[in-house]
Amino acid sequence: MTAETREIFAGRLERAARSAAQESLAGLVVAPGPDLVWLTGYRPPATERLTALVIGEGRRPHLLVPELERPDAQHAPGAGAMTISGWRDGDDPYAALAEQLAGQGRYGVSDNTWALHLLALQRACPSLAFTSLTEALPMLRAVKDDYEVERLAAAGAAADATYEAITGLRFAGRSEREVSADLARLLREHGHSQVDFAIVGSGPNGANPHHEAGDRIIGNGDMVVMDFGGLLDGYGSDTTRTVHVGEPTAEERKVHDVVREAQQAAFEAVRPGVPCQDVDRAARAVIRRAGYGEYFVHRTGHGIGVTTHEPPYMVEGEHLPLVPGMCFSIEPGIYLPGRFGVRIEDIVVCTESGARRLNNTAREMRVVA
Ligand code: ZN
Ligand code: ZN
Ligand code: ZN
Repeated sequence: MTAETREIFAGRLERAARSAAQESLAGLVVAPGPDLVWLTGYRPPATERLTALVIGEGRRPHLLVPELERPDAQHAPGAGAMTISGWRDGDDPYAALAEQLAGQGRYGVSDNTWALHLLALQRACPSLAFTSLTEALPMLRAVKDDYEVERLAAAGAAADATYEAITGLRFAGRSEREVSADLARLLREHGHSQVDFAIVGSGPNGANPHHEAGDRIIGNGDMVVMDFGGLLDGYGSDTTRTVHVGEPTAEERKVHDVVREAQQAAFEAVRPGVPCQDVDRAARAVIRRAGYGEYFVHRTGHGIGVTTHEPPYMVEGEHLPLVPGMCFSIEPGIYLPGRFGVRIEDIVVCTESGARRLNNTAREMRVVA
């Protein structure tokens, strides 16, 4: 690993400690999961054996690990910026962790911390208070540096290549599950190490935004919503395109056009300083004007980074202003119950001059066989 990578993790650890102090937290306790990956590059499995990182302003980050995992921890990209200590089976790891926490105050705890560990920690530190790290510091990972934007762009390009490849395959006569399996295979072939979802919603199933993929056989005349993504090189992809098997009807074309226009309007609303909710409003206004307002049943977008869903959220009531470096989805949809659905989703990054797309396949409805 390069000196540059080491500096990236040292910088994140320092920034997190500073942000915690600004929120009047004594520090942060971070268990295995996306926050630990982002802060240190270390990705151990979450198990019944306690692993926890403690950070706070003015002290060196301390990673407590099971002794048998210490060699792995010492090879983590961010290892140079932390003290690493091991506890042995038979020791009390919570007493060891308590020693790393100041006697008073409130600590932010990462969302992925198992209840088993947090409850034991609370018993070991009765004078401390604990709060959700995500609630206290929702923006900790939201603003991406150039290194991260590059990785998200690479994941987006792989998802785009997957879409190009899938539209060359046959849809009619195959089940949603088969097409979904192809999407997952293609994501991996294009470099993904992990596939988080490969949704295929055909015909009426497309009108259920949470439909995954089932045994329905795709037929001629079906709209097919495909929403797929995962992790490549530790960063997420998430894109949706809606295709049609054979020639679409005028209504199907119209609904697709409305969603595409809404997606474009939200894209154009992105600028530094604009509240997140305005991105949602821009998409919703187009869909409402076209008479489909009640059929757009979810928020317009979510952040993406070392996970495929994270803050910030493009949703009514989110007043947080956009900042250059924020990466998130723009994914309006129209869902006509019992008939069909359309969703179009790109990941974008907020730049000084507006949004830049990290997905670049055509958003026009593609006719497939
Ligand atoms: Zn049709
Ligand atoms: Zn998606
Ligand atoms: Zn999404």
